[in-house]
Amino acid sequence: MTDTQAGGDVRLSGISKNYGSFQAVHPLDLTVPQGSFFALLGASGCGKTTTLRMIAGLEDPTTGTVFLGDRDVTGLPPYKRPVNTVFQSYALFPHLTIYENVAFGLRRRGIKSVKKQVGEMLDLVELGDFAQRKPHQLSGGQQQRVAVARALINHPQVLLLDEPLGALDLKLRRQMQLELKRIQTEVGITFVHVTHDQEEAMTMADTVAVMNGGRVEQLGAPAELYENPHTTFVANFLGTSNLIEAEVVSTSAGKVVVSAADATLRLPADRCATAPTTGGKILVGVRPEKISLLHADEAAQITDGRNRLTGTITASSFIGVSTQFVIDSPVCPDLEVYVQNIERDVRLVPGARVVLHWNPEHTFGLDAAQD
Ligand code: ATP
Repeated sequence: MTDTQAGGDVRLSGISKNYGSFQAVHPLDLTVPQGSFFALLGASGCGKTTTLRMIAGLEDPTTGTVFLGDRDVTGLPPYKRPVNTVFQSYALFPHLTIYENVAFGLRRRGIKSVKKQVGEMLDLVELGDFAQRKPHQLSGGQQQRVAVARALINHPQVLLLDEPLGALDLKLRRQMQLELKRIQTEVGITFVHVTHDQEEAMTMADTVAVMNGGRVEQLGAPAELYENPHTTFVANFLGTSNLIEAEVVSTSAGKVVVSAADATLRLPADRCATAPTTGGKILVGVRPEKISLLHADEAAQITDGRNRLTGTITASSFIGVSTQFVIDSPVCPDLEVYVQNIERDVRLVPGARVVLHWNPEHTFGLDAAQD
């Protein structure tokens, strides 16, 4: 069996990286399932590129082991790993045609008859008509697709992508997100994608690892991370969260009741990051689009069992698909609410007294003691 036929998950076991006394990546255990689209997501400097480079063999880990399937590849140089990398800079050969750029990996292995494979790869990235052009005659998105085709031509077991869409404008980036996802689904190869863009990670990946300060803070499917963040960092990094400081009043039968200023709120126990204890502090979170807004005069419409808060609108702005409200409430000075269909109540303007209400199932609980 050749390297390229080897299968299995990418497994990092106790991997860490120190640069002198600075620990860029703290000991990390991570499994990337074979055939999945996996994103390493985090702000600049959190250690995601270093982690990717350790998988590629471009960086030696300070501790730990990199496995591809059952095989320990930690000591192998990059070219001996069944892994290829696509960088933000594309790194195409400017003097070669697109065809020759894609053929390069095959020719380097001494393969003479490349026409069929190169043709298939160009079709995969929808650049069959561009084979005879030079890189400078293509758009940024097309060049990035050539870089992907060139990296896939030798059928690596894993494709690593380091901010591959970072140089593209927003519209093109969104197109390429869908395009890369389509390509990954078609070839079925494991993709590990590094990005600082939460929307990009959420759009493309099956699993996202959110990194912060050299550690993975949370790992999960995009919807799971969004709906049930475990830390304030994850709650705030993936979209906007309203976080309310509260005290636990009771916990029973899978339900947690908390109080915050004039409000009593409920949430499911299994949506709390750490087990709540009666009398303890907790941060209660709810996403802005999960909240409904009513003028205070209409509060009687709200059905029992929903979480509710009172407040005053301090600002509102139309943001296309929805209107964004900022609400000053006794529990929090700046709650955010996004409402999709605002025409229904023209009284929802700054200064209006309002009631916010939402399903307790959409509430999550975070440890109030975290930094
Ligand atoms: P970015 O999105 O900006 O690339 P990142 O999350 O990918 O950030 P890394 O490139 O992995 O971050 O870097 C993690 C930390 O390690 C940073 O603080 C960085 O300055 C540091 N670092 C990276 N490479 C080196 C190096 N060769 N020597 C010293 N420090 C380094």
